[in-house]
Amino acid sequence: MIKEIDFNLDKALQTGELPTQICSMCGKAFDEYDYQENVRFDHYFGYGSKYDLHHLDLNLCCQCTGKVLDWILPQCKHNPLMHESEAMACPSADCLNSEE
Ligand SMILES: [Zn+2]
Repeated sequence: MIKEIDFNLDKALQTGELPTQICSMCGKAFDEYDYQENVRFDHYFGYGSKYDLHHLDLNLCCQCTGKVLDWILPQCKHNPLMHESEAMACPSADCLNSEE
């Protein structure tokens, strides 16, 4: 399996050479929409968690991303999900401090 995180989707679509990436949950090969979303959690756990010294490399297709969010969002005390229009109206602190 070829795993590439940074690649040119437009070029890959033109050449028909999408790297092989599968969804960690359902095992489906990523399609172009899955690549566009590129939902992944890549994290090394240090001390203080249940998964100390483990590396999480979770890749999710669009459908499984929806399943995970449907499960986790109702459990969040602070809603981490924001619609694009809300995000544009409330820029992050990084954007507010940017002089670019
Ligand atoms: Zn999936």
